[in-house]
Amino acid sequence: MGEASIPANVIAIADLRYRAAVPSIPATLRPASGLLTDSQGRPLRDLRISVTDRCNFRCSYCMPKDVFDRDYAFLPQSSLLSFEEITRLATVFVSHGVQKIRLTGGEPLLRRHLETLVALLAQLRTPHGRPLDLTLTTNGSLLARKADALRHAGLRRVTVSLDSLDDAVFRRMNDVDFPVTDVLAGIDAALAAGLGPIKVNMVVKRGTNDGEIVPMARHFRERYGSRIVLRFIEYMDVGNTNGWRMEHVLPSADVIEQLGTVFPLEPLGAQAPGETAQRWRYLDGGGEIGVISSVTQAFCRDCNRARLSTEGRLYLCLFASQGHDLRHLLREAGASDAELTGAIAEVWTGRADRYSELRGRGIAQAGSGGRKVEMHYIGG
Ligand code: SAM
Ligand code: SF4
Ligand code: SF4
Repeated sequence: MGEASIPANVIAIADLRYRAAVPSIPATLRPASGLLTDSQGRPLRDLRISVTDRCNFRCSYCMPKDVFDRDYAFLPQSSLLSFEEITRLATVFVSHGVQKIRLTGGEPLLRRHLETLVALLAQLRTPHGRPLDLTLTTNGSLLARKADALRHAGLRRVTVSLDSLDDAVFRRMNDVDFPVTDVLAGIDAALAAGLGPIKVNMVVKRGTNDGEIVPMARHFRERYGSRIVLRFIEYMDVGNTNGWRMEHVLPSADVIEQLGTVFPLEPLGAQAPGETAQRWRYLDGGGEIGVISSVTQAFCRDCNRARLSTEGRLYLCLFASQGHDLRHLLREAGASDAELTGAIAEVWTGRADRYSELRGRGIAQAGSGGRKVEMHYIGG
């Protein structure tokens, strides 16, 4: 079939998914020092690992149903990194200074026996001998069933995505008619298993769920206090399929203003460099919330995050259009650990990505033709 006859929305994603450069292995191999900085002086600290590109939800801002339908070709099992391959790469990343690993997807709890991977990663130690901050982002649909096993395997905490408490709004947003009560049960199970404090992420889409800001805040502060931190995320222009428009973004400043009239707030300082959320505290001691303003207040300057796709491509930015094929080094090139260490160092030291900052200045430029990788493929 000629390219012209393939619908644009199908070929674009497939092309993107498979576009990757093979990283070069440097001639001189230096051991990792525990501190690797990119071309802007940003250290590598946070690794997000996507364990599946599949999901049981079809949130319109991430995997719109008309694109990700039953004809969509998800990655075959053989393309996925095995748990051993993921652990081997994670070990190298940790030697370069990664302190935090987040498992994501797609929906990570769809990956069978995920707790086995958690147990492997929980054994890793930083160069200073400290355990990692090991966490997971989930839509919560399978959390009630899996929370205990994940905790026993060594998971420390979870982030649950939840866009509304109103069942009708929530079902519309996940677009698979999934009830909100099941996600709330997952949150309770995670807390009972000791996976707290839990972060709850709400993507705010103007005109869709902005009426849920105050009810969400009220529910979580009154029921859970400081055991749950609710974070409001600006709707982002990730990928190429969600039909993003600036008028659908509700700036975090508006969220804070809306909330502040009901529950007075004051700003808190950052806990760690490179933190994505700006933190706020309820003045009456009811806990804290966060806002993630990736559209209106870019935070590329401190961005210390790398992303490993389901099939082992390293992405240096959420809005990247090209990955670096680490799986090729593992499988075809048979690279040694020292060679992997050197190759990853080369890739990170050359990093100059700062998409959100450039978008904010009106000069955003995703690589080749402005096409970006899809979020369900590299994770949030
Ligand atoms: N399926 C899991 C979940 O939903 O939590 C993990 C993967 S999901 C891609 C990770 C995070 O990305 C979720 O919190 C989701 O709300 C967020 N996300 C997806 N698309 C987004 C968009 N267009 N703008 C802002 N956040 C988005
Ligand atoms: Fe699935 Fe998460 Fe994307 Fe929603 S945001 S479609 S739950 S991967
Ligand atoms: Fe990091 Fe890219 Fe997001 Fe900037 S746009 S904060 S570089 S992931």
